[in-house]
Amino acid sequence: MLCSHIRTALSARLDEEELPPGITARRLDDHLAGCRDCRQWEARTRALTAGLDRAMAHTEGDAAAADALLARLKSASVWPASESPGALDPGGRRTG
Ligand SMILES: [Zn+2]
Repeated sequence: MLCSHIRTALSARLDEEELPPGITARRLDDHLAGCRDCRQWEARTRALTAGLDRAMAHTEGDAAAADALLARLKSASVWPASESPGALDPGGRRTG
């Protein structure tokens, strides 16, 4: 199982979404038990998600404020994409 697939599923699980086909919670936990990179990725993503949730609760869905927070988080290097080339496609820079 590729780490990129695991991370996609981890992201879904953190968002309380359905896991991708063929991946079970048990499989995720098994992979995490043996893959330190993915454990660290999950920890960072969890922290990031928690921060965003708090921000959204404060701003009640103010997208601009959430974007500003996200920019701050990215500049603080907690966003994992830069150190995991190919594992997670950030979709490039957003314009507008
Ligand atoms: Zn992994």
